[in-house]
Amino acid sequence: MPDTGPYTGQCACGALTLTIAGEPVGTRQCWCRQCQQIAAGGPTNNAIFKGEDVTINGTLAHKSWTAASGNTLTFHFCPSCGTQVYAQSSARMHLKTVRFGVIDEPHGLAPQAVIWTDDAPAWAMIDPALESWPQQPPAPPPSSN
Ligand SMILES: [Zn+2]
Ligand SMILES: [Zn+2]
Repeated sequence: MPDTGPYTGQCACGALTLTIAGEPVGTRQCWCRQCQQIAAGGPTNNAIFKGEDVTINGTLAHKSWTAASGNTLTFHFCPSCGTQVYAQSSARMHLKTVRFGVIDEPHGLAPQAVIWTDDAPAWAMIDPALESWPQQPPAPPPSSN
């Protein structure tokens, strides 16, 4: 099991720490309604890693429900402070979608694509240079080179 990686991180209260041993297979900004609900009305910004690359030190809480995509989505978060750590889709159990907010700066990651723009509010500032999808895009590749 890796104990160091290119990335480290923690939740807001510090009860949870994480290490990520590899590079993401993709990064995305998501404006779906569920993301707005957990992100104070804004989008979530996420890096999608191979699951085995992500090591959590501490105890996560989790909650599952049916996402707008129709897949079962499980959100993993700190039970002490509520910080969202990562999400996992039933369609892609080999991947973990880690929230940018828990990755220590300077991580150098930025969204490569914007998804669920149909649900974005009128005031949203969406970078026109980024690939964008009105709803759920195809899954990222299972691994990157
Ligand atoms: Zn916490
Ligand atoms: Zn979303």
